[in-house]
Amino acid sequence: MKITEHITNANGKTLFSFELLPPVKGQSIESIYKAIDPLMEFNPPFIDVTYHREDYIYKQHPTGLLEQVSYRKRPGTVAICAAIMNRYKVYAVPHLICGGFTKEETENALIDLQFLGIDNVLVLRGDARKADPSFIPTPGGHAFATELLQQVSDMNKGLYLHEHSDSNKSDFCIGVAAYPEKHFESPNLKTDFNYLKKKVEMGADFVVTQMFYDNQKYFDFVKMCRENGINIPIIPGLKPITSAKQLINLPKIFHIDIPEDLSEAVSACNSEKEVKDVGIEFMIKQCRELIEFGAPVLHFYTMSNPAPTKKIAEAIF
Ligand SMILES: Cc1cc2nc3c(=O)[nH]c(=O)nc-3n(C[C@H](O)[C@H](O)[C@H](O)COP(=O)(O)OP(=O)(O)OC[C@H]3O[C@@H](n4cnc5c(N)ncnc54)[C@H](O)[C@@H]3O)c2cc1C
Repeated sequence: MKITEHITNANGKTLFSFELLPPVKGQSIESIYKAIDPLMEFNPPFIDVTYHREDYIYKQHPTGLLEQVSYRKRPGTVAICAAIMNRYKVYAVPHLICGGFTKEETENALIDLQFLGIDNVLVLRGDARKADPSFIPTPGGHAFATELLQQVSDMNKGLYLHEHSDSNKSDFCIGVAAYPEKHFESPNLKTDFNYLKKKVEMGADFVVTQMFYDNQKYFDFVKMCRENGINIPIIPGLKPITSAKQLINLPKIFHIDIPEDLSEAVSACNSEKEVKDVGIEFMIKQCRELIEFGAPVLHFYTMSNPAPTKKIAEAIF
């Protein structure tokens, strides 16, 4: 079932969903189940699983020479999606990224997803490798989410890279990312917004936003979308603050602002336990406002740690 159908069927009721990261290579899938089990009571209609591009590691040879090795730290997205659907009977949404894939590999991955009965994908450019100064496309792959979206949308029309099939068209419901505080590489919000508009014109069915802590930024963003003819669901992404370090790390990594009242409340805490409580309380208020506004879904970036999200969901659902 498509995310857009879940939202329509909810008749204006705000739904609950969340995102998980595949475990670090070498860890078992049990860590995924442990991250999901406590949240199932809130009836998520779908669960997202992130995708991670390969990075480089350096292996030292006995001669002292360093060899650069390409290494994917968190593999398993597609298999985790299949396992989630099988075990919980909930729709899993794999993230698809441009980096690390040729178009051919993307096509094969899409065929795997179609055969697994996965109906929704979140189409992204993906993060740059840590060692690269900025995003470097894979030769033979895509440079922007728009290009990857075109490929998915083509497959939905039966247009494969080298074949045309009238009998096997995919029917993916396509999500894309958006940034109420703009994407960090974009010169301004309007330029970034114009690319979102392009993604929607090319067939995106729903939007998931970057996390934010000032609801007004989401409200303004939704208003800008509606005024510019973007009428698809705009799902807010939410991440509770759980540690004082995040006052520095979240703006640095995700290029977002933390409002003064939140940063002051966190700074005034005497322990990490107090910080967690402040983060949860803040997010409960944020969620209540978002529900009142009519947000279609509250989508939590759990980082596979379900405890704070569970406390918030208990308070609001
Ligand atoms: C909800 C969500 C989920 C995410 N999940 C993952 C994940 O699983 N794995 C991961 O690696 N990363 C993930 N990310 C991070 C994301 O990949 C990065 O933010 C990345 O830098 C941009 O991805 P995008 O899809 O927004 O890119 P794009 O839409 O391609 O935009 C990238 C930049 O280029 C500009 N731009 C867009 N289209 C064009 C164009 N056609 N020509 C020129 N400029 C253009 C945009 O304004 C923007 O500045 C996620 C982000 C969000 C918000």
